[in-house]
Amino acid sequence: MPDLQHCIIVGGSHAGAQVAASLRQEGWEDGITMISTESVLPYHRPPLSKGFLHGGKSDDELLIRPADFYTKQGIEVRLNTRVTRVDPVSRMLSCDNGAQLAYSHLVLATGADVRRLSVPGSELPGVCYLRGRDDVMAIRRHLRPGGHAVIVGGGYIGLETAASLRKQGMEVTVLEAQSRVLQRVTAAQVSEFYTRVHREEGVEILLEASIARIAGGDAVEAVVLSDGRILPADLVVVGIGVLANVELARQMGLETDNGIRVDEHARTALDDVYAVGDCSLHYNPYYDTWVRLESVQNATDQARTAALAISGKPSSYKALPWFWSDQYDLKLQIAGLSSGYDQVVIRGDSRRGRGFSAFYLREGRLLAVDAVNRPKEFTFTKRFLAEGRSADPQRLADESVDFKACFS
Ligand code: FAD
Repeated sequence: MPDLQHCIIVGGSHAGAQVAASLRQEGWEDGITMISTESVLPYHRPPLSKGFLHGGKSDDELLIRPADFYTKQGIEVRLNTRVTRVDPVSRMLSCDNGAQLAYSHLVLATGADVRRLSVPGSELPGVCYLRGRDDVMAIRRHLRPGGHAVIVGGGYIGLETAASLRKQGMEVTVLEAQSRVLQRVTAAQVSEFYTRVHREEGVEILLEASIARIAGGDAVEAVVLSDGRILPADLVVVGIGVLANVELARQMGLETDNGIRVDEHARTALDDVYAVGDCSLHYNPYYDTWVRLESVQNATDQARTAALAISGKPSSYKALPWFWSDQYDLKLQIAGLSSGYDQVVIRGDSRRGRGFSAFYLREGRLLAVDAVNRPKEFTFTKRFLAEGRSADPQRLADESVDFKACFS
């Protein structure tokens, strides 16, 4: 084992950058190296499908921290580099450029990568994904006002991309394999709301749609559905979910089951090896369940937890998950985890207008909220969820009742 104190972070995105920054904040004075396959310093991913895609944000605005932050903090950043192998016994790792580095502490912040489409024609130019900055550049090359875009997948990424491309003047069709958009993550009322708004904005949404193949010559020209329909396409953006990057962890002999299993300090089963962010699977005490979350909140909060443990100040990770999605003039804010709900209460009118909240309950216990353009209801519910307060469904549904009076 090397006789040194050096923390190596694999992955340079939300989680990796936060581990590095928090280590310095917590007084870690030894070496920190962050290794990233990216060609640029850590940047915010959420704007990729929002402000950055429709042109309102610059490259610099995308950076999580200014470029000189890392040098000032003595954090070595190695870009364009993939860690290919880790030997947890000798505590040495190898990179694809031949470099070999020793560590005392290792943080896996390897995130997730897109699930790929496998129908014939999927490799044609113009079939794009949306995970990194380079993906946006590829989308922009095929973006033409008046042209046709087909979005595969009616999840958050797909719907945000649809809204951004519509803003850029494209004719947009969203293909969803299920019977409603956002099926995996929201109640039917929320799905219906988003379907209505997208249609009002001129987006075509096709449900229970499956793709047979993608047609084209030098570039994509059309998407052919299994029922024979042919949709002209200058651009196809695929948003069908992600898979956690767990190969390194698996190669190190760690347990990986939809994510790298970690404890409340973000520690893996190997001494001084941590995993944080989208690649990790952790136990959430609020919901008494193991979860792998894909959110900036989780990436940054869990990164702080790992940095505290590495700095010798362990503090258990207990955070209420929260998330957001921006589409058109809609700001959706989500607090809590809704899975397993048996009741949904709508406050406001989800069938008309553009603001309401959906509350998810199980056996009378409040689990989560989806608040659309209702920031106050989001903020209070997030607090009440963390405090374990209970909600009265009848009162919640009645807008004439003061919001805070719905909770006890
Ligand atoms: P990632 O961001 O996936 O970063 C992992 C990094 O590790 C990558 O740079 C990868 O290249 C690198 N890496 C992997 N393997 C290696 C290796 N072997 N060697 C070196 N480097 C490696 N979340 C929200 O909360 N709200 C939103 O509105 C929202 N919108 C989103 C919109 C888009 C378009 C996308 C793509 C994501 C969005 N998310 C949103 C999710 C959020 O961005 C992720 O949860 C977050 O990026 C997770 O951060 P991470 O650091 O764990 O992983």
